[in-house]
Amino acid sequence: MKDIKKLVRSNILALQPYSSARDEFSATNGIFLDANENPYGWLNRYPDPQQKELKQKLSEIKGINAEHIFIGNGSDEAIDLCFRIFCSPGNDKALIFTPTYGMYEVLAAVNDVALVKVPLNASFQIDRDRADAALKDSSIKLVFICSPNNPTGNCIDAAEYIVESFNGIVVLDEAYADFCSSSMINKLAQYPNLIILQTLSKAWGLAAARIGIAYASPFIISLLNKVKPPYNISRLNNSAALKALGEQDNYLTQKEILVNERNNLSRALSLLPVVKKVYPSEANFILAEVNDADTVYNSLVQKGIIIRNRNSQVKNCIRITIGTPSENEALLNALQNIAS
Ligand code: PMP
Repeated sequence: MKDIKKLVRSNILALQPYSSARDEFSATNGIFLDANENPYGWLNRYPDPQQKELKQKLSEIKGINAEHIFIGNGSDEAIDLCFRIFCSPGNDKALIFTPTYGMYEVLAAVNDVALVKVPLNASFQIDRDRADAALKDSSIKLVFICSPNNPTGNCIDAAEYIVESFNGIVVLDEAYADFCSSSMINKLAQYPNLIILQTLSKAWGLAAARIGIAYASPFIISLLNKVKPPYNISRLNNSAALKALGEQDNYLTQKEILVNERNNLSRALSLLPVVKKVYPSEANFILAEVNDADTVYNSLVQKGIIIRNRNSQVKNCIRITIGTPSENEALLNALQNIAS
């Protein structure tokens, strides 16, 4: 059995968290003279620091007990908290499989945590031998796996292998998992070292509301709660999340449209002279190789169509987010007119 407690920084284990007024007393009725709030107005009261209603709703949707759920100000907040909980600045390391989401590297740097980068193979999968060799370094406390991976779009086959074989914490970033049927969320109980990140920013269409979710053991959730700012989710964002989660038909319809569009766009892109290769995607974006990514990117910008130039991560590749059918059509027309 993995001893998760041993992986936690000692200052975090010992931390006495701030006890907010709403933590100490959370009844809905009463005369509240405890939080130095203004008694007038409609946003005058602090929000629920534990987001109980939102967690309850997610718990029903995901079939997971609320004590396994943490809500962050976007999943980016949860990523940052993982560094702060498990990695001592200047001593411990984290590992990522490249190319992947850029914020792991930025937040490692912010937290002064050295980052070991293991390249994915030509199919953008984990090379198990290389991973095993790299993970022998006992100062690596945290591994990030992004599945489906950004910017490559594929699911990572060896995610469970790493969770099982690595003795540290594995953060499995499933930001795009709603667009495919692959998630490890039903294996949480099996793996005490697993943290799964999801978000309402993608399939749920709530990027502006900044609602990220971490699913993990109650012990890890208690650490995330200890370290987060007391009122990290605003009442406005909380309400937006509850509204979206209450409209699941909307979510399912939009998701179906986006997945269909992704599949159609992949096919159409592969027929264009300017496109050399379309990588298979299980997310809401497509990675494609062109002859010259800088030229294609600049030509599209001139036509008012903005994609992501990923040339610096994957040679001559562009990443295209799936838009509405008419936006995708406009992209295809514009690409048709770019000389190969
Ligand atoms: N993880 C991945 C893989 C992402 O691509 C993104 C956003 N682009 C995030 C996390 C951050 O999402 P959020 O909006 O929840 O902070």
